[in-house]
Amino acid sequence: MTKYKCVRCGKEFDGLLEGPVRCPYCSFRVIEKVRPDVVKTVRAE
Ligand SMILES: [Zn+2]
Repeated sequence: MTKYKCVRCGKEFDGLLEGPVRCPYCSFRVIEKVRPDVVKTVRAE
């Protein structure tokens, strides 16, 4: 699932639709995609 972050209020929200979405909190239209950091932890046992 793609997450978005509003550049105005900084809140993160899930993208419900494909394409541009608006911030549900302040209706700001400039948002950025947030990629969840994939941290690979390899443990050798
Ligand atoms: Zn916002």
